[in-house]
Amino acid sequence: MSVSVGGVTKKVKKSKNNDAKALAEKIKRNALKQQELEKSKTSQAVDAAQTEPAEKEVVEVETKVDTIVDPDAPLKFETFQELKLIPELLESIQNMKFTKPTPIQSEAIPHALAGKDIIGLAQTGSGKTAAFAIPILQALWDAQQPYFGLVLAPTRELAYQIKETFDALGSAMGLRSICIVGGMDMMDQARDLMRKPHILVATPGRIMDHLEHTKGFSLKNLKYLVMDEADRLLDMDFGPALDKILKIIPTQRTTYLFSATMTNKIAKLQRASLHNPVRVAVSDKYQTADNLVQSMMLVSDGYKNTFLIHLLNEHIGKSIIIFTRTCAHTQRTTLLASILGFSAVPLHGQLTQAQRLGSLNKFKSGKANILVATDVASRGLDIPSVDLVINYDIPTDSKAYIHRVGRTARAGRSGKSVSLITQYDLEMYLRIESVLGKKLPKDPSPPKDVLDALHVHVDRASAEAIRRTKDFHEKRNEKKRGGRGDNRDREER
Ligand code: AMP
Repeated sequence: MSVSVGGVTKKVKKSKNNDAKALAEKIKRNALKQQELEKSKTSQAVDAAQTEPAEKEVVEVETKVDTIVDPDAPLKFETFQELKLIPELLESIQNMKFTKPTPIQSEAIPHALAGKDIIGLAQTGSGKTAAFAIPILQALWDAQQPYFGLVLAPTRELAYQIKETFDALGSAMGLRSICIVGGMDMMDQARDLMRKPHILVATPGRIMDHLEHTKGFSLKNLKYLVMDEADRLLDMDFGPALDKILKIIPTQRTTYLFSATMTNKIAKLQRASLHNPVRVAVSDKYQTADNLVQSMMLVSDGYKNTFLIHLLNEHIGKSIIIFTRTCAHTQRTTLLASILGFSAVPLHGQLTQAQRLGSLNKFKSGKANILVATDVASRGLDIPSVDLVINYDIPTDSKAYIHRVGRTARAGRSGKSVSLITQYDLEMYLRIESVLGKKLPKDPSPPKDVLDALHVHVDRASAEAIRRTKDFHEKRNEKKRGGRGDNRDREER
């Protein structure tokens, strides 16, 4: 029986306390019914959509690969000693507690030591950084030459991480390395460049800027070029900067190109920049870890935050990455979690470089156990021992999904990922399932009374988080209007 709002008001006014209570109960029951209805609609829509053929993901042309490394197969080289590395490198490798090469290292390093150009199809987590750093450092030991190697990376965080690996591996050989990325002072960087580093790790835009404008800096003696995460370099429109760099640096050099996927664009880049390369791929098996437990939760859009906080409660103290789609979502979700007493830090493209590194360091050191991030953090970053990945927003392509969940269950550890799926995400979600080749199990919803009790708190905290996020954006815009436009390398929007 439907009751008009006016009628209800009248009735409440007339009724005694008991009637008001009964009415409140009724409203609550209706709200629950509505919620149930929404949930079952979502569920039905999933089931209905699952019977339709999902759209196939477009995979670009694959080129010939010389070796596909099966991570379960015996290694060609079981120890670093067998690779005949100099004692200084072996010492650092031992200090880093690398007991044996990873599959990509065992396969690629011997070719690299023989002077070949390399194409490596491998992702973060495979040990690819050391796979290219070790042969460069081995060659540097003989050459002892400044501006010996240039590593190009798509993001600042990845660049810093690569530099850290070089520094650790080169610690016994007096290595000088620098990181040249956007968002940092050009003059400081120019000064660092004059100190004749052996290895430069850079984002393409900023190093090109220096090549064009910093007096006395040139790469005319460069011997090694690495393009790391080349697919992402091209996705982020670094193509023109790469072309310019390739024109400026010597053609007589060794080049390594690492990429998660081999696409037409990469094949073109490879033809333009590599000479008769050896192609080594780590098979997909390596990426879909058996010890990763993936699941999904069907949630109604209005309850998404409540489900998220419920998950955080369930995994209290664990290291967690929450992925969101936009910078604003990242900021708001971090604030929401913090207001509710969780230790969360944000990582997205609208933070300053110092803020981003600050967040990353807090997370890495364990001062904060929750990192809320856009996809800028889903690839390339070496964040050890993440217990849980939560897809708060489902990614807009299936490759990104694989990269995101790849942040957990690494190096033989177990891990879990949960994707929150609303009625608006179904199409994308089904595409992801089709690429994965399997259906993800649905996690059961928490009991209704638990959810309802939580929802009240979460709603209040959400309102506060939205207000503070607005403040954050207003302050940021004010700064921008104040003429402090920074000259950052392009990353996410
Ligand atoms: P990467 O794929 O280069 O980002 O490396 C992923 C992680 O594996 C990093 O934490 C490396 O320090 C680590 N790693 C690289 N090579 C080895 C190795 N041979 N043994 C153990 N850990 C390694």
